[in-house]
Amino acid sequence: MTELDAVVVGAGPNGLAAALTLAAAGLSVRVVEGADTVGGGSRTAELTVPGVRHDVCSTVHPLAAASPFFTWLGLQQRGVELVHPEVAFAHPLDAGPGGVVRRSVAETAAELGAAGKAWSRAFTPLVERADAIVPAVLAPLRGLPDHPLRAARFAPIALRSAEGVAKRFDDPRAQALVAGVSAHAMMPLDKLPTGAFGALLTVLAQSVGWPVVRGGSQVLVDVMTDTLREWGGDVVTGQWVSSLDELPRSRVVLLDVAPSQLAGIAGDRLPKRYRAALRRYRYGPGVCKVDWALSGPVPWLDPAARRAGTVHVGGTFEQVAAAEAEVAAGRHPDEPFVLVVQPTVVDPSRAPAGRHVLWAYCHVPSHSTVDMTAAIEAQIERFAPGFRDLIVARSTLTAADEQELHPNYVGGDINVGIATLRQMLFRPTVRWDTYSTPDPSIYLCGSATPPGGGVHGMCGMYGALSALRRVFGVRSLPDAPVPASSRMGAGAIV
Ligand SMILES: Cc1cc2nc3c(=O)[nH]c(=O)nc-3n(C[C@H](O)[C@H](O)[C@H](O)COP(=O)(O)OP(=O)(O)OC[C@H]3O[C@@H](n4cnc5c(N)ncnc54)[C@H](O)[C@@H]3O)c2cc1C
Repeated sequence: MTELDAVVVGAGPNGLAAALTLAAAGLSVRVVEGADTVGGGSRTAELTVPGVRHDVCSTVHPLAAASPFFTWLGLQQRGVELVHPEVAFAHPLDAGPGGVVRRSVAETAAELGAAGKAWSRAFTPLVERADAIVPAVLAPLRGLPDHPLRAARFAPIALRSAEGVAKRFDDPRAQALVAGVSAHAMMPLDKLPTGAFGALLTVLAQSVGWPVVRGGSQVLVDVMTDTLREWGGDVVTGQWVSSLDELPRSRVVLLDVAPSQLAGIAGDRLPKRYRAALRRYRYGPGVCKVDWALSGPVPWLDPAARRAGTVHVGGTFEQVAAAEAEVAAGRHPDEPFVLVVQPTVVDPSRAPAGRHVLWAYCHVPSHSTVDMTAAIEAQIERFAPGFRDLIVARSTLTAADEQELHPNYVGGDINVGIATLRQMLFRPTVRWDTYSTPDPSIYLCGSATPPGGGVHGMCGMYGALSALRRVFGVRSLPDAPVPASSRMGAGAIV
């Protein structure tokens, strides 16, 4: 049997990014995926009624828009169209207008009244330096970034909790915005690094935006897969891997899997001590997700929320903080913080005329089997009376179901590992190069490595660069082969 240069286990965005980086260096690569379709957390499927296409996991792609990996790949030149809602994210409140984050700091600040000045003071310097800050944050936090002084401007806000950041604004709308966006960290809002999570996502909203992929997130991974094949790589689906012995022979194996899975798959190819460290890796809370097909757009009372791609639902800073604290304490909140995404606001192609797609999730304790549909719908109804009357069909996944469907999301943790400071720096174990393992032919390339969860491909790219450096003597990112369309002089496809 011929030996391949590399096998990648898992065709999520990071596994595909790893395979593309290796293929660009001229290596022979095969990706082995357990599910019947590629994409992992970036798939799209008819989850409710025929003709209505739902993103199974990710929909909102600020990280893809900002990712140096996707810039390298030329995502948009290859046919992925990122479409932007007028409002990146909205946060309705019970009393009066809620908070709204738009495409620029000036537009956002203009709607915050007296607090607009403080908002502008906090975010203008960060957005102006986004070109230095974003690549520094989306990289392993172990060396100096390319532009250390410009990137360092992020440190003061990043070293605060969401609570600390919110105190800078004497306005309930601005404080609620900070709560909602920082709660993506899935941690109590008085803990580090919730401020960093919120600040990064807010900077992205006001620079690259919070777009969705026209046609659904599947388009993004399908384009990655087609490009990999164009570059000579190969993808096999429907083969779950439980041992390295099941894989074709190769010089290296890269795994887009959770650390607990790596320990089992590699078995005694890895030393006992390292496997024990993998098993000590800590996962965060889970999510319970609901997808709906609707007969009309969500009737938000707050008009800004009707034009938003994402709506953070849960009320004031204090109410969101209380809900997240409940989850951290192992309880299911009666009034959870709910993250709502409404892609058809900007991409009607996902459903037949007159139909709308909506998804929402709330955080729940790890491994929860509790169906939170009623609590989630009650929270949406609180800010959008009449919402329930529009429901045509729904599909719910509890946190336990999430893990069943996506083995990386241990206990339903969609970030594959809690974002404590230690696990941000050393993910998944304490090593200088955390993509490598004690076996020089085995590498990690999924979101349990830096920079963590999200569709950005950076874990895959850095995992591949580690293998390229250690085994193949390639010391820098190879050039991406030029897209076929550009070679023919057709220009960008979009
Ligand atoms: C409900 C939900 C909403 C989300 N929303 C967003 C969002 O809006 N924006 C965003 O940026 N991110 C979002 N995310 C997170 C995002 O989907 C993930 O961070 C991202 O997909 C991680 O990519 P990955 O390649 O590391 O892992 P995954 O996407 O999980 O891919 C791993 C792949 O490996 C395969 N695999 C695992 N084990 C094996 C095995 N043993 N054998 C063979 N194959 C295996 C899996 O089937 C999967 O295809 C969301 C996630 C969820 C669950």
